[in-house]
Amino acid sequence: MRLVLLGAPGAGKGTQAGLLEQKYGCVHVSTGDILRRNLRDKTDLGLRVEAFMKKGELVPDEIVIDMVSNWIHENDVIRGFLMDGFPRTLPQAEAFDNVLKAADAPLDGALLLEIGEDVLVWRLTHRRTCRSCGKIWNLLTMKNFDGQTCPDCGGELYLRDDDTENVIRNRLKVYHEQTAPLVAWYKNRGVLREIDSSGTMEETFNKIQAVLGKT
Ligand code: AMP
Repeated sequence: MRLVLLGAPGAGKGTQAGLLEQKYGCVHVSTGDILRRNLRDKTDLGLRVEAFMKKGELVPDEIVIDMVSNWIHENDVIRGFLMDGFPRTLPQAEAFDNVLKAADAPLDGALLLEIGEDVLVWRLTHRRTCRSCGKIWNLLTMKNFDGQTCPDCGGELYLRDDDTENVIRNRLKVYHEQTAPLVAWYKNRGVLREIDSSGTMEETFNKIQAVLGKT
């Protein structure tokens, strides 16, 4: 499967990509994760993108397009991928389309995860990520959960710098202005699939599998 996951921050792209990866073995590519690793390791790329990410702004297109194109060349695109957080602007979508055309590897679908804005803010401020395995948790939906350690691997959980309410509001604004136009773009290409992601992660995953004809 070659899929793009679309949706506002907090819609569940990372969580669903993790589930899809586990079940179907396609490679989960999160541009946000790649950028955060570069920030943490203080690489040249990390230093170039730090200010944008802290404010919840998008990193410039040319940086992200180069980063993803490099990744595509280093990996087997044909085998399948789940793009999480990319493309996020029309120029990114066009550049990605060209790369896929050149590799004769068309997209199977663009899955749009839809959810109301209040739920997004609530989800993001309670989201915790594991420093070791990268798994995403939510403080309010987990039972018998201390909020500090990952129930799966025991790693330390942290709140992302950009998951504070002010930055979240900016990220949502950026999403509406720059990323939402991709919905019409993929619709025009006949690959858009819309999924209500306001329920539990299992409910959303079931809907995705139904849409993909994989139940
Ligand atoms: P995410 O983990 O997908 O929410 O991304 C976190 C942050 O990384 C975003 O707020 C942007 O600053 C940056 N970022 C991730 N993916 C992209 C992209 N495709 N284009 C531009 N900036 C991105």
